[in-house]
Amino acid sequence: MINGYNGKGVKVDLSSNKIEEFEIEDFIIESFLGGRGLGVYFLKKLFNPKENPLSENSPLIITAGGLTGTKTPTGGRFSISFKSPLTGTITSSNSGGFWGVNFRKTGYDVLIISGKSSEPVYLYISEDRVKIISAKDLWGKTLSETTDILKEKYTKAVKVLAIGPAGENLVLISAIMNDYSRAVARGGPGALMGSKNLKAIVVDGRKKLIPKNQELYYSGIKQANKLLKSSPVTSKALPQLGTVGLLKLINDHDMLPHKNFQDVYHKPENIEKISGELLRKKLLIAKRGCFNCTITCTRKTKVDDKTGEGPEFETTALMGANLDIYDLEDIAISNYICNDYGLDTISLGNTIGLAMELYEKGYITKSDTEGIELMFGKRGILPVITELTALNRGFGKYIGEGAKRLAERFNAPELAMVVKGLELPGYEPRASYTQALGYATSPRGGCHLKGGYLVTLGFFGGSREVNRFLIDTAAGHVVNEQDSGCVADSLGICRFSLYAFGENELARIYSGYTGLDVSPEDLKFIAQNIQNLEREYNIKAGFTKEDDSLPPRMFNEKLMIAGEMRAIERDSQFEKMLQKYYEIRGWDSEGNPPKTT
Ligand code: SF4
Repeated sequence: MINGYNGKGVKVDLSSNKIEEFEIEDFIIESFLGGRGLGVYFLKKLFNPKENPLSENSPLIITAGGLTGTKTPTGGRFSISFKSPLTGTITSSNSGGFWGVNFRKTGYDVLIISGKSSEPVYLYISEDRVKIISAKDLWGKTLSETTDILKEKYTKAVKVLAIGPAGENLVLISAIMNDYSRAVARGGPGALMGSKNLKAIVVDGRKKLIPKNQELYYSGIKQANKLLKSSPVTSKALPQLGTVGLLKLINDHDMLPHKNFQDVYHKPENIEKISGELLRKKLLIAKRGCFNCTITCTRKTKVDDKTGEGPEFETTALMGANLDIYDLEDIAISNYICNDYGLDTISLGNTIGLAMELYEKGYITKSDTEGIELMFGKRGILPVITELTALNRGFGKYIGEGAKRLAERFNAPELAMVVKGLELPGYEPRASYTQALGYATSPRGGCHLKGGYLVTLGFFGGSREVNRFLIDTAAGHVVNEQDSGCVADSLGICRFSLYAFGENELARIYSGYTGLDVSPEDLKFIAQNIQNLEREYNIKAGFTKEDDSLPPRMFNEKLMIAGEMRAIERDSQFEKMLQKYYEIRGWDSEGNPPKTT
């Protein structure tokens, strides 16, 4: 068995209550590392891409990263892989916090949950032991109530991953949360967990993780920590203001969406009202970090008598600036509801933006919304819509289906700001052609993480800085970012640490930890292989080159960005970038990976 891994997983079938351990062969671990990689491997093996993602045998595959729980900076992440009920794509979403660390210390690298329980249950996993326990008294409770009850029942040391009312109500934009407010959000994993009648997973692991080659391992960790301290992004920008500190910078680069991506024009005084600086002054109680993280980008905040985490950049961008709502308190309160009920704030903010555009253009009327005036900039409606969505009530039922379905329902599919059915995050594609290509090629759809976090490389990429409008070089940058991100996702490292260190340090740490001889090139090769498998899965699920695209608005409507009127020209710009991307990936001109890759 490879050092540092448990070498085994456990399958739980909730239909039959059968619990079965299985061995994970070394060559599988060597080929897929962990996290996203192992998740993709098992999903491909176990679930037919053509099947309904909410069918009984649709699995949730939970995997610890290859370095999760080690001393690697930010190394606390785990992944959940599944076929998305929202989009139908292969989806791997990951989260920080502390749950993943405890999971790995239970003695399992992989947890596969399939089937559907006849009544609400939760799982309790301690060292090499799994129990299925009734959760009748937990069903209907919020995330904080559920977590408090389970911690009270066991010990404060256990970690809880759970769904809130949104997941129970099968809301397609619902998240799975852990450690109260860390989200596995994108693609609707909460609905899949809810469909299985599975409320929570409690982990109580304490196994020790011991590196094989201490000298190599610690030399890599020392170097990574040194780089974290010297990078201005990881030592200053994120620790000082959190991710919401990006808001002004993104706006200054004409990248911050407004009114469902109709423009990027915000008055500077409005941006001040929702800025990271104001959050620090008015709402901040404490800075928080995930496991072994010195970047500490998380913000604990307070509004009146309510406390919670956030809002982070994406929430502020999508549920604030995009909706023309510049009210930090309203955004924070709505964020607390999302955390406690289990909703994806990106998909929610994006979909509300669409609903507001549909309302203002007359596709939706007051009778559809049961009296709610869904106007851009309307004060006070955000917490109301958020709660209705989580509870699957009133007009919230339609918001909870996500932007693609909402736009189709009201006969305006072209107004959905989605790629492959997943709602775009808070960066305007016309303001960064590299990011646009990243969105279009992301395996899980409109996403700045799986698509590559290219946007900020345009202004604080350091040595990796890229020109955001250059067509010829875009594909190379996108492939590079996607590969690095896939390495981080598979090893269980936070994407933000990539502003400081990368494959060189990770290869040294991973080799020291496992005793394997793994080079930076090996890590990239593995990442490419994982993404080829994801591509194959999506193709078998029915996705084609036509789905590697952008909302029509990005091609048809010009905006003044960085001093020029810009849209993305379909043939001379987008298609050119896409073909180059396929070529670098080794795929044919239709985006099919040949067997030889
Ligand atoms: S940078 Fe932020 S999200 Fe990443 S591990 Fe640290 S606290 Fe968590």
